Amino acid sequence: MGMKFLKKLKKFFWPDIYEKNRINLFEKFSFIKRFFYKRKNFAYIRSFSDIVFLSLIILGLFGPQEKDKNIMLFLAWGVWWTSLVFSWFFLGRMWCAFCPFPGLARLLQNLNLSLFKNPPEIFKKNGIHLATALFFLIIWLETTTPLTSSPRYTALFLLSIVLLAAFFGVLYREYAWCRYLCPLGRITGVAATMATIEFRPDYQICKNCKEAHCKKGKAGVRPCPVYLGAVAVQNNLNCFICGHCLILCPYESPAIYLRHPLKEIILNKGKGITCAYVIPFLIGSQLARFLVEKDFFHNWALGLGISSNFLFTLLFFWFSVSLIIITKLAASFFRVIEDPILGKFNLTIAILIPFAFTGELIYRSKYFLKNLGDFFPTLGRQFGIESLLKWGFII
Ligand code: SF4
Ligand code: SF4
Repeated sequence: MGMKFLKKLKKFFWPDIYEKNRINLFEKFSFIKRFFYKRKNFAYIRSFSDIVFLSLIILGLFGPQEKDKNIMLFLAWGVWWTSLVFSWFFLGRMWCAFCPFPGLARLLQNLNLSLFKNPPEIFKKNGIHLATALFFLIIWLETTTPLTSSPRYTALFLLSIVLLAAFFGVLYREYAWCRYLCPLGRITGVAATMATIEFRPDYQICKNCKEAHCKKGKAGVRPCPVYLGAVAVQNNLNCFICGHCLILCPYESPAIYLRHPLKEIILNKGKGITCAYVIPFLIGSQLARFLVEKDFFHNWALGLGISSNFLFTLLFFWFSVSLIIITKLAASFFRVIEDPILGKFNLTIAILIPFAFTGELIYRSKYFLKNLGDFFPTLGRQFGIESLLKWGFII
C-alpha cells in the first residue's frame, strides 16, 4: 500500500522525460503550424513591437520627465518586463523572436550595411560571462539609481541596447549580440530551460539530410539568426522559436512540442553556469531587492552608518555568495541520488531553478500591480485628458 502510494506520488511529481511523452503541437493543432509557416505573421508582430518600442524611446526622451506624467515608465518596466518574465514559463525564448532590440541591426543588414563577418571565437567562449555580468549590472542599476523612475534614463537605457545590437549587426552576420552578449537574452535562455514548450527537429530525419539548409540558409533565404538551425537545437538556451528555419527545411523535420517543464532541467542535471552562478545571483538579488522595499531597510542602513545603496550591494553579494556555497555543499550531500531513469541527480538544482524564476515573476508582477491603477490617470495627466484622472484604482 505504502509503496504503491509512493510510486504514484513519484509518477505525479517526477516528470516523464522520454521523448514520446511530449505533444507535437504542429500535429495536434494545425493552426499553430500554419501560423509558424506563414512568415509574414512574424514580420507583422516584429514591426508592431519595433513601432511600440520606438514610441517608448521618443516618449522617454521628449515627453514629460515627472514619473506620474509619463506612461512610458509603466509600459517599459511594468508591462514589457513583466510580460517578458511571464513568457519564460510558457513560450521559452520566443520573446526574442519579436524583440525590438535587434530591429535597427536587422534594418542595417537588410540595407547591406554590414560587414557580415563570422562572430569571433571569444564571443562563444566568454560571451556568456559578459552577458550574465551585464544582466546583474542592470538589476543593480534598477535598484540603486533613478533608472526606473526617470523616463529619460529609461529611454537612454533602451536606446543603448539597440545601438549595441546595431553595432554588432554592422560587424557580424545575423544576430551576434542576441546569441552571445545580450543580458536579457541570456537570462531568458536560462529561464527557457524550464518552459513548457520546446522547438526540436526530428533527429532521425536530420540524420539523412545532406543539405542542412536550416543552419546554412539557401539562395535568397538567410540562415538561422543565431547560428543554430533546427538540426543543432538540443535545449532551449539559444533557440528563439522564431520558426525561420521551418521554411528552410525541405522535410518538415522541426516542430514545436508541449513538454513537462522540468524535463530539460533534469536532463541537463543543472550542469554549467545555469546552476553555478546565474541562479544563486538571481535569487540573491531578489532577496536583497525585496528587503530594500521594506520600511526598516533605510533605518537599518542609517543605523549601520552606510548608504542604502551600499547596504543593498553588500546584501546582494552576501546572499549570492552564500547561495553559491549552499548549492555547492548541497551538491555534495545530494550528489548520490540514483534513479534508474535520471541517473545521478542533484535535487537542489530542480528546486532552485523554478524558485529563481518564479521569484522574478513575483517581483515584476508586484511592480505591475502596484502601478496598474495609475495607468489611466497618468495617461490623462500626460495628454491633458481630464476624464481619465478619475479612472485610477489601487491594488
Ligand atoms: S531540420 Fe531539416 S534542413 Fe535541418 S538538418 Fe534537419 S532535415 Fe535538414
Ligand atoms: S533554430 Fe530555427 S527556430 Fe531556432 S532560432 Fe534558429 S531559425 Fe529560429
